[in-house]
Amino acid sequence: MKIHNIEGWSNARLRLEVKEGGKFIVYQYVISILIMTFKRPTDVYFIKKDENRFVPAIMPSLLTLIFGWWGIPWGPIYSIGALATNLMGGHDLTNEIMTATNHEEISEEVIKEMVQEQEKKDRFCGSCGKEIFSDWKFCKNCGIPLLSKH
Ligand SMILES: [Zn+2]
Repeated sequence: MKIHNIEGWSNARLRLEVKEGGKFIVYQYVISILIMTFKRPTDVYFIKKDENRFVPAIMPSLLTLIFGWWGIPWGPIYSIGALATNLMGGHDLTNEIMTATNHEEISEEVIKEMVQEQEKKDRFCGSCGKEIFSDWKFCKNCGIPLLSKH
């Protein structure tokens, strides 16, 4: 899996950039071929603190708009999900990637799993497992404070 924008960086440099607010971001794109639809993560992009995290979302979103819709039934469903993800600035995988031991060995499968885990966490309380909504500050089922996501 390619990680863009950190080429040649030492671990120390990377840690510093993350500390200053840099993030690893993955976007989504959808391709439909006849009745088959594939939802896939893009490469990983390192976005520095002041960099725009919507710019790398443009290509995968265009790809999805052109090729994603046509599969029935998953084309439109996956496409809407992928576009929503991209419009919100992609998936922030900074914590997951920084705790991975070897950055060279992060494969597309690993990224997919990280994204799936995160999508689960977005929708279900980590404490009681009930469904939660992104504007909640506290879980309304068990009362645990929920981290706000930006
Ligand atoms: Zn809960």
